[in-house]
Amino acid sequence: MKYELNVAHLYGDLLNTYGDNGNLLALKYYAKLMDTDLDIQIVSLDEKFDPNAWDVVFFGGGQDYEQTIVSKDIQGKKDDLTDYIEDGGPMLAICGGYQLLGHYYVGADGEKIKGIGALDHYTLSQDDNRFIGDIVIKNKETGEVYHGFENHNGKTYLGKGERPLGEVESGNGNNGEDNSEGVVYKNVYGSYFHGPILTRNGELAKKILLTALKRKYPNADLSSQEQLTIKPTF
Ligand code: GLN
Repeated sequence: MKYELNVAHLYGDLLNTYGDNGNLLALKYYAKLMDTDLDIQIVSLDEKFDPNAWDVVFFGGGQDYEQTIVSKDIQGKKDDLTDYIEDGGPMLAICGGYQLLGHYYVGADGEKIKGIGALDHYTLSQDDNRFIGDIVIKNKETGEVYHGFENHNGKTYLGKGERPLGEVESGNGNNGEDNSEGVVYKNVYGSYFHGPILTRNGELAKKILLTALKRKYPNADLSSQEQLTIKPTF
């Protein structure tokens, strides 16, 4: 392979529900088509997140209990993660991970679970309800349509500088109220999609990998990577 990217799997040993780890398999698959090797490592409790060591970050979803554990530890990584994000580092955060990038998440039992506030959203709890089911959204800017499956208690409300990953065409999305699903902030993509999102939406995998390659190899000719056609898998 011509290129190599270092992928941090944030708290991959704690937050890994609903096949979210499949996103890493999908990322590997598309990376191979782009002549790129991925070196994937878990960065978990008590380990430093070095913003200069990683080219892609994946942060999956989890149960409230695991989220409370991660919530405490991640405060020590807050500055480094914020630096990585502000510097344009690509990241995919699903469900619980997406919630913890924001200010807080109120869990199903009412406990306020602190996030890092690197992104300006916050997440409330529903009363005795979860949003569960198939979901389809459309990104207004790119026209891209994403398919997935959502399963979450949290209702997320976007804040400053945040755009939704898409408008809900069917399903519930961030909160079931404002028609938004997920988030785009700089090169961070957040979503409630399990499924996993990248196996069903290869365009997003391509986008994340291209961003990472352009950052790491600014002088490389990446035209063949850019031309890679993604076949719909839904
Ligand atoms: N525990 C969180 C919620 O229920 C996140 C769930 C998840 O990551 N699937 O909203």
